[in-house]
Amino acid sequence: MKNGAWGQVREELIKRVGKNNYATWIEPLRFTTLKDGVARFEVPTSFFGDWVQRNYSDQIRTHLVNAGEDVDRLEFAVASSTMERHVRPTSPAAKPARSRNDDDLPGAPLDARFTFDSFVVGKPNELAHAAARRVAEGGVATFNPLFLYGGVGLGKTHLMHAIAHELQTASPDLRVLYLSAEQFMYRFVQALRDKQIMDFKELFRSVDVLMVDDVQFIAGKDSTQEEFFHTFNALVDQNKQIVISADRAPGEIKDLEDRIKSRMQCGLVVDLHPTDYELRLGILQQKVEYYRQQYRGLKMGDGILEFLAHRITTNVRVLEGALTRLFAFASLVGREITLDLVQDCLADVLRTLDRKLTIEEIQRKVAEHYSVRLSDLVGPRRQRNIARPRQVAMYLSKTLTSRSLPEIGRRFGGRDHTTIMHGVKRIEELSATDAQLADDLQLLRRSLQN
Ligand code: ADP
Ligand code: MG
Repeated sequence: MKNGAWGQVREELIKRVGKNNYATWIEPLRFTTLKDGVARFEVPTSFFGDWVQRNYSDQIRTHLVNAGEDVDRLEFAVASSTMERHVRPTSPAAKPARSRNDDDLPGAPLDARFTFDSFVVGKPNELAHAAARRVAEGGVATFNPLFLYGGVGLGKTHLMHAIAHELQTASPDLRVLYLSAEQFMYRFVQALRDKQIMDFKELFRSVDVLMVDDVQFIAGKDSTQEEFFHTFNALVDQNKQIVISADRAPGEIKDLEDRIKSRMQCGLVVDLHPTDYELRLGILQQKVEYYRQQYRGLKMGDGILEFLAHRITTNVRVLEGALTRLFAFASLVGREITLDLVQDCLADVLRTLDRKLTIEEIQRKVAEHYSVRLSDLVGPRRQRNIARPRQVAMYLSKTLTSRSLPEIGRRFGGRDHTTIMHGVKRIEELSATDAQLADDLQLLRRSLQN
């Protein structure tokens, strides 16, 4: 094989299989020889070899052939010299995604699977999707920045990558830079260290579109925030599109400078809501198509997807993980996917989801959220700054657990059940008109249910 051909194919494979699969299954492969149409690789274990043979050898072979190599089949052998363990690399050696013209952009790799095509739209993410689509059309920024926020695994990164793909495909010359806030900080610190801060500034100010993922990361990191703020302003002044994501609304990010918060709020702030049943089912139906291709011949009984969509309500990543495991397990044991098999295979996932939320947990979270003492929350004080959080905790206890009003009353310092009922009602009424309170409730609900 020509020198570098395998290297080139590996890079193609990142796009095909995604970076996690790449890091787990492709990166550890050591190409050894190609002779008489047989490409040989060393693998860490035989299980590993079998798995790659079964799941990736077609793709690897196809790519090798496309790269002009004469390959009929692949063989995987355990490295004889070493009893090397299969160590999962912490970061895949993926090359930054960028257009051919701007090799200098220090972006993060884009996941080829995160496209608009593969994004399932439902009520909870409708607006985020529409806004992302609008940004992906390019042209003059209609809102700047686009600020996407929501809990883990709800599709923020997916949407950002989709925007980048779309823009880059439509205009390969456009300088689109996607990176995480952590990487932004890392670059910044590196530039400071190497005394290249002018280059850093110039680089970040020269992009057409800047996307910074998980911006909550820079909270509390003062000089990084400062630099981010200036970069942000410089780009907005030039009317360059900015897309930001975070795990919560700008105003909710602790230790983020006020001027940054208010800048973030100048554009369009969009919330990705927790998934609902229809969306989860839609996502599963879409993903299952992919697995049907991968594991041809594997049978799946009726009602499985519905069952998963009902039971796994946390986030899409967990949902996907469950499906991956299910198919891998079923193919390994050679069984049809039935509800029994689901129970066997996903016992641990389903069990942790059954975990009952306790009133104590709710009280602790609420106390923390409003910075009041837990003892005050359940105690007798009537000041409004304590009474309101207390009612919030009552309301959440009533709506998120199956405890009765008298039981809840007991946990709130022995209050009467009518007091609890009153508190719950009060919060219900208020949250209909008080946007701040409605936000608080949503945030609390989200963090309690994760
Ligand atoms: P976040 O960045 O919000 O934590 P991600 O964008 O990383 O979440 O999404 C987690 C996983 O769930 C990804 O594999 C993504 O493709 C998938 N996912 C999330 N939302 C959707 C959706 N609406 N349609 C299809 N896949 C989704
Ligand atoms: Mg993300």
